[in-house]
Amino acid sequence: MADEKKVEDVIVVGGGPAGYTAALYTARANLAPLVFEGFQWGGQLQNTTDVENYPGYPDGIMGPEMMSQFRAQAERFGTRFVTDDVDRVELSDGDVQRVYLGDEEHLAKTVILAMGAEPRRLGVPGEIELGGRGVSTCGVCDGAFFKDRKVIVIGGGDSAMEDSIFVSKYASDLTVVNRRDEFRASKIMLERTKERPNIDFKTPFVAAEFVAGEDGKLDHVRLRNTETGETEDFVTDGAFVAIGHIPKSEIVQDQVETDEDGYIVVQPGSTRTNLGGVFAVGDIVDRTYRQAVTAAGTGCMGALDAEWYLRDTPPSPGAHRMPGGESAEIAPTPGS
Ligand code: NDP
Repeated sequence: MADEKKVEDVIVVGGGPAGYTAALYTARANLAPLVFEGFQWGGQLQNTTDVENYPGYPDGIMGPEMMSQFRAQAERFGTRFVTDDVDRVELSDGDVQRVYLGDEEHLAKTVILAMGAEPRRLGVPGEIELGGRGVSTCGVCDGAFFKDRKVIVIGGGDSAMEDSIFVSKYASDLTVVNRRDEFRASKIMLERTKERPNIDFKTPFVAAEFVAGEDGKLDHVRLRNTETGETEDFVTDGAFVAIGHIPKSEIVQDQVETDEDGYIVVQPGSTRTNLGGVFAVGDIVDRTYRQAVTAAGTGCMGALDAEWYLRDTPPSPGAHRMPGGESAEIAPTPGS
């Protein structure tokens, strides 16, 4: 008799606040989730230092430590982890969902997509080539390499401010380069950045090219004034690109509905995608809030949506399948 392949109740793809929270809730619902948490598990918080805005940590907590705690809490209730990147998925509308690591196939009745987002690139010459040789997208990871050096941080949002504050603890001089005179960053982050004695601001400029010196490392950044178009060469040892993020939805493109920027589209007020049994949570959905606490919140929603979907299948399989965007039947809250 041929072995029947195991079909999981829930597979979670992604190991950040959203994925781990989805795992915690589905584990506590006895659904024994299988989490593909990625080779670099922990998501974006793995590259963050102090998290001061997650409720319950009045003294703040380091991002990696917080992710370890999320993970341990999910593990305590029976979550299984695969610390690797999913290669591809085959999603279906209400049928079995397939997740692949190479040729290794994993089946599930539901999948919760929580792959998050990654740093956006400028797309200018030298940016990729000089990665690790002066150009970085992670101040927290690479700031210490620039002790007593001159650096720039490109961007005007909270990420740029956070990177600037962190890197300025090492660098001798730091210049924040923003393409507008106005900053997108929150007032408190901007004020904190301005308070640092070794930080200057240069606006309205963009980086047009990263140029190497004879040693093959970054020598200067060609900056272009966005109003006049004039360029100037800004000599610097390091450049941190901190201009936002893009959703990591490549593996589900053309399978599940996404918007023009690649964010997965979910039904308003839920985590349901256009496919029955496929749910999406966290930064892969959220272009607006993008906080650890909101990601965790939608991770919880995804787990409850998956639980409701499983409970209604097969008795009323249509309840949470909403092809064409019909409104959902509201399921009762599962007992906790
Ligand atoms: P944002 O989208 O908020 O900011 C991106 C910045 O990069 C903007 O200044 C934008 O300019 C600029 N930018 C985008 N593309 C380019 C380009 N091609 N060339 C030059 N500049 C460019 O992203 P963040 O990553 O900063 O923040 C994302 C979210 O995470 C926000 O909600 C933020 O509040 C949150 N966050 C919170 C933190 C905290 O509380 N500690 C830390 C980090 C992030 P423009 O404004 O002109 O579009």
